[in-house]
Amino acid sequence: MPVADPIADARRAMEVCNACRYCEGFCAVFPAMERRRSFTDADLTTLANLCHGCRGCFYACQYAPPHPFGINVPRTFSELRLDSYAQYAWPKPFAALFRNNGAVVALAMALGVGIVVVLAAALQNPAILLGAHPVRPGAFYAVIPYAVMFWPAAISLMFSIVAVIMAVRGFWRDAGPSQRTAGALGAAIRHAMTLQNLSGGGHGCNDRDDGFSTARRRLHHAISCGFALCFSASGVAAIFDRLGHPAPYAFWSAPVLLGTIGGFLMLIGAGGLFWLKLCGDQAPTAGRLVGPDVAMLALLAMVPLTGLLLLALRATSAMGIVLAVHLGFVLALFLMLPYSRMVHGAYRFAALLRDAHDAGTGK
Ligand code: SF4
Ligand code: SF4
Repeated sequence: MPVADPIADARRAMEVCNACRYCEGFCAVFPAMERRRSFTDADLTTLANLCHGCRGCFYACQYAPPHPFGINVPRTFSELRLDSYAQYAWPKPFAALFRNNGAVVALAMALGVGIVVVLAAALQNPAILLGAHPVRPGAFYAVIPYAVMFWPAAISLMFSIVAVIMAVRGFWRDAGPSQRTAGALGAAIRHAMTLQNLSGGGHGCNDRDDGFSTARRRLHHAISCGFALCFSASGVAAIFDRLGHPAPYAFWSAPVLLGTIGGFLMLIGAGGLFWLKLCGDQAPTAGRLVGPDVAMLALLAMVPLTGLLLLALRATSAMGIVLAVHLGFVLALFLMLPYSRMVHGAYRFAALLRDAHDAGTGK
């Protein structure tokens, strides 16, 4: 059953927690909570995005269900986070994409693949698209024209970056005035890179049940490092291309090595998080987040999976179709960055920065 009013539920939970304070060493949420006596809607949204969902406070809580207070901070905050993504979505009408978000992301994947495959088929001779090509410079462009490969991805990525900036800007503005604190940016970057709020205060998270583990934290690191490596691979490949050396490249070249290692890391991260989702205790999880989470993990897995498949099949007649499918998933990933659970990284970083400023000024 979804929480009827996540804001009211979060306010009640924070009022109980502020009296109890048992969990104050678990993460940044509780010290931030203790700096407040009452909670505006924006305070609660900020605290919800500061929470990394480690679930430690659920298993430690003497007021968790079946206690009549029914305190379930991770679940309440995950409901509130999902609502905040819709609340601040830019442009406004796109907030509707967070309704049935799992189905929306699945549709985006189908559309992304469909658009690139149809464009490639329309602009290319089928014999070339479905034929085998020797692995030599420019072989990918011979199958899918540069314009189809570059422009849809570039335009969608630029739009998504603007949409994420505008969304987080609204979130930051609603949180109210904040004084600048020296070192806050460094502290926020350090917390984001180390995922300190997924450490459960040092002993690990409650990934599956009341036992402690660091699996979730490591899997998040695998996805973010993998993503960064894949992005670097594309950047190096773009430089090579500008210098007159178009893809595909030899296996031991920098773009292929970066992309291969990054791709495997993303697959391990997405697969592991999916496994934790399948076998973990559902009590501290909002039921309506399962669809968006699974769809996001599927998208994060399909991009590297099709990329690695392309590497394996690039000398065969399957290369054209696999390349088109891979580009379609990349297009869907770029388009859905602001309108799926992937956006949580941007909000969490803003909440960490806000918290670092507030903690430095004693607010
Ligand atoms: S989650 Fe429970 S134990 Fe922890 S501070 Fe809140 S009320 Fe206390
Ligand atoms: S990060 Fe963990 S301990 Fe902190 S509020 Fe969220 S679930 Fe609770």
